[in-house]
Amino acid sequence: MKQVAGMAGAVLRIDLQAIRYNYRLLRGLLGAAKCGAAVKADAYGLGAVPVVQALYAEDCRDFFVAHLQEAIIIREHLPADAAIYVMHGSPVGHEAELLEHSCTPVLNSLPQMLAWRALAQKEQRRLPAIVQVDTGMARMGLSAVEVQQWQADASLSEGIDLQYIMSHLVSAEDQANPVNQRQLQAFNTLRTQIPACQGLPASLANSSGIFLGKDFHFDMARPGAALYGVAPVAGQANPLRAVAHLQGRIIQTREIPADTGVGYGSTWRSSQTTRIATVGVGYADGWMRSLSNRGIAHIAGQAVPMVGNVSMDTITLDVTAVAAEHLQPGALVELISADNTVDQVAARANTIGYEILTSLGGRYERTYSN
Ligand SMILES: *Cc1c(COP(=O)(O)O)cnc(C)c1O
Repeated sequence: MKQVAGMAGAVLRIDLQAIRYNYRLLRGLLGAAKCGAAVKADAYGLGAVPVVQALYAEDCRDFFVAHLQEAIIIREHLPADAAIYVMHGSPVGHEAELLEHSCTPVLNSLPQMLAWRALAQKEQRRLPAIVQVDTGMARMGLSAVEVQQWQADASLSEGIDLQYIMSHLVSAEDQANPVNQRQLQAFNTLRTQIPACQGLPASLANSSGIFLGKDFHFDMARPGAALYGVAPVAGQANPLRAVAHLQGRIIQTREIPADTGVGYGSTWRSSQTTRIATVGVGYADGWMRSLSNRGIAHIAGQAVPMVGNVSMDTITLDVTAVAAEHLQPGALVELISADNTVDQVAARANTIGYEILTSLGGRYERTYSN
């Protein structure tokens, strides 16, 4: 939806300088290892095209998306020296399209590997790919049985120009979790056991994995969330800059007497005379219903509670304590800000910052600050 300035129910500002700062910070931590970027799901809801352009300007050359469709969109906006890796691999039967758009699949299973091998044979040239092995996620990547088959028969990857062996961490944000070391060991074992992977560059770390230290860095990391300002280490201060700033617009205010229900189901009732502000953001905009009676907003630096259920298109705030000058129709209230970060909103919504960002809807007026 095309948005005209001043008309939308809310304004989402995306700070591309902050993304670039975050990229430099992560790259600094990685030292000699390369820093790729996960830009799947429209760069975590923030807009894949401006985000990849900002990252390319910081010399990022390795971009990870989930779907081929996402790859095709950003391919047009990236120079040829940028590699685009499709983490789900090729959609079945669409291997040729992947090649046509100069994208590199992550091969997650033997069937994917065999389909890519078949295309290489047909094309009579070696075709690039990353191979993923499962080290504990049980989601994607070659299983132990598939690894055994590959170990026994190196021709399964014949004609495939393997660029990296990769795996994915289960709980990297939880630094004390022993699963991190177990996965690291499993990954290192696989790297040496599979003949076709010996000497191959490797990639293991997501954002949080970078903060687990040098052993986890290998040759390339694939951060996503941290680029967009989400805290990478549970229980520790966040060294990254906030990227998403969301402001909702007041539609109207009203004064209600004591003992008046607000919103669907009257899940909140006033205990005294109360001023309610209605703001044009709802669960259809990704302002989750689980924030009902739990969320907060800030007006002129003052925290105000969200009261009542979140509606599809609106939320209601108890603004009794706020001066009337800040409550005019059209005035903006802070929903995601330095005072109320993506991670704090997520905690109140009983989810993670990733879900808050990727849920941000299509009705906002979006501005990109450089
Ligand atoms: C999403 C994803 C990433 C990025 O993870 P963050 O936690 O956002 O840094 C890296 N690797 C894989 C395989 C992913 O699916």
